[in-house]
Amino acid sequence: MSEIDKTPVTELVDGSHPTSGSEWLERYSGSLLGVFGTPQRVLVRGAGALVWDADGRQYLDLLGGIAVNALGHAHPFVTSVISSQLATLGHVSNFFTSPTQVALAEKLLELTGAPTGSKVFFSNSGAEANEAAFKLARLNSSPGEGTSRTRIVALEGAFHGRTMGALALTAKKAYREPFEPMPGGVEHVAFGDINALRSAVDTSVAAVFLEPIQGEAGVRPLSAEYLQAARQITREAGALLILDEVQSGMGRTGSWLASSAAGITPDAVTLAKGLGGGFPIGAMITFGEHASSLMSAGQHGTTFGGNPVATAAALATLHVLESQGILREARHVGDYLRAGLAAIDGVTEVRGAGLLIGFDLAAAVAPAVVVAALEAGFIVNSPAPHTIRLAPPLILTTDQADQFLTAFPAILQSAKDTL
Ligand SMILES: *Cc1c(COP(=O)(O)O)cnc(C)c1O
Repeated sequence: MSEIDKTPVTELVDGSHPTSGSEWLERYSGSLLGVFGTPQRVLVRGAGALVWDADGRQYLDLLGGIAVNALGHAHPFVTSVISSQLATLGHVSNFFTSPTQVALAEKLLELTGAPTGSKVFFSNSGAEANEAAFKLARLNSSPGEGTSRTRIVALEGAFHGRTMGALALTAKKAYREPFEPMPGGVEHVAFGDINALRSAVDTSVAAVFLEPIQGEAGVRPLSAEYLQAARQITREAGALLILDEVQSGMGRTGSWLASSAAGITPDAVTLAKGLGGGFPIGAMITFGEHASSLMSAGQHGTTFGGNPVATAAALATLHVLESQGILREARHVGDYLRAGLAAIDGVTEVRGAGLLIGFDLAAAVAPAVVVAALEAGFIVNSPAPHTIRLAPPLILTTDQADQFLTAFPAILQSAKDTL
């Protein structure tokens, strides 16, 4: 026991021989499936919005694990809640429940303003939350009305995850085609085009899936007008309106749901990324009695979903976000960053809300900008050749935002120089 107590995780992974970043990458390519390409750096430690690599270099993390690390890295309160829950009760099967699971479900219903009868299903990831929503859609068959709802509508540019159902909802052909046939019935319609949605949706449609802000497509927001029209069109046709807020939800845009700005109540929302503050957890919330009654005992399940440690991590994260007014701060720092970026030469458009930010460059140098930014000590991401995405910890300060704004012109120049 005492020997176990004394074994830090670093000894488990590299024994007494510290390894450099390049040695780790060699071992990586010899042991990890190549689906992610070569990792940009080997990261060993984080604190707040900063991370350090295996060679001791420091970075300002403006990607936050792709919108995951809402409170940055190694947040002391979240860390202590996770540790104490793990030391008390780490896992139970879904034959049982636990207080953190119930409390988190209640908290999510409260924060999202869900109407009476709304319910929560916990998963471990965004794709799994969307799988649950896909199955929910299939159950919306309205046999009593004599309709058979065989179709599901999603948008061009959509990203909903990599499992087969979530992949069928995802628009990008390169992701889908090697794995066809997909679960059937999904159609993609033009982004942001109300008339295209109206002509696609009738009583043969089970559900419409939308991201209020398409993160992977370069942070493209749907207008409030579009979301309101989508609500009306789906309601009239008896189709479910399912919002994928895996990336945009849980404070990322400065409100608990990005869609709340449009004042609509969907039939279901999916969440993941930022929900656990870095701990893996996802959720599907069904809004109101109708959507919540579609799925019954035995129709879905998961071993790890709603695990006591994961739900404790999310409770701790939401508690800190709420009690410290961090969403207001995120709106403020987000506005500040967007204004600063818009004033930089070579930046042609800035999009997003809160701390989910996409900006376009006049030149198609975004991948080279990612590399140059790393060299300069900043982690950013390029979802498209002209586009940079930022999704930093919601605790990012204006000082840290300034560091990036000040450094960016030189980063852009050195990216251009490499081409
Ligand atoms: C990341 C993401 C997903 C998939 O989540 P995973 O946890 O990677 O499975 C689904 N939808 C959106 C909008 C996302 O950004």
